[in-house]
Amino acid sequence: MTVFIHKESERRPDEALYDHIIPAGEGWMRDLRPGQVLRIVDLEGNQAADTLFYDAENPEDHYSAVQTIAGQQNIYLTTGSVLRAESGKPLLTIVADTCGRHDTLGGACSAQSNTVRYAHETLPMHNCRDTFMLQLAKRGDGYTKRDLAPNINFFMNVPVTPEGGLTFADGVSAPGRYVEMRAETSVTALISNCPQLNNPCNAYNPTPVRVLIWES
Ligand SMILES: [Zn+2]
Repeated sequence: MTVFIHKESERRPDEALYDHIIPAGEGWMRDLRPGQVLRIVDLEGNQAADTLFYDAENPEDHYSAVQTIAGQQNIYLTTGSVLRAESGKPLLTIVADTCGRHDTLGGACSAQSNTVRYAHETLPMHNCRDTFMLQLAKRGDGYTKRDLAPNINFFMNVPVTPEGGLTFADGVSAPGRYVEMRAETSVTALISNCPQLNNPCNAYNPTPVRVLIWES
């Protein structure tokens, strides 16, 4: 069942304590304190922001699609969704959403999946799994490939067919749509702004996203 709870935010960008553009294909990693609010803006529309979260105090307790989906009895995320860790602990709550479709099942693109889905020539292309690892490696906190869990694809439209299959469909987002979430604990946020040129989720044209953080 898809229920989109459209909610606009009253937070103003000029009051944000942090404001940054992530170019298409690049990564971003930052810690949020409890109560801080992160907004991800789909600046040009139809971009996929592949995102993972970790309990900053206990990084092996990372975002869990299974705990999140089971907790809310819905595979899609929208306003009110609680993003949970493997332990079941709430990491963040979505407090505003003007897009309405965020994928929890499709996972991140990788060199391997690109060759299977598209063509062997895509092997050396940029991909989200490598971007995640580059960001984690910069932290030097002992993160390894084991810390890459199935991620959220904000703004990505991956409808589930009646037969239970997944399809990568044209995006349903539009320029300026955003999702906003409040950290319920100390959280490390990790984004790969997908460089994918081979599927229609970002119209074969990866574009930048903007991230803003407010104190509360
Ligand atoms: Zn990707």
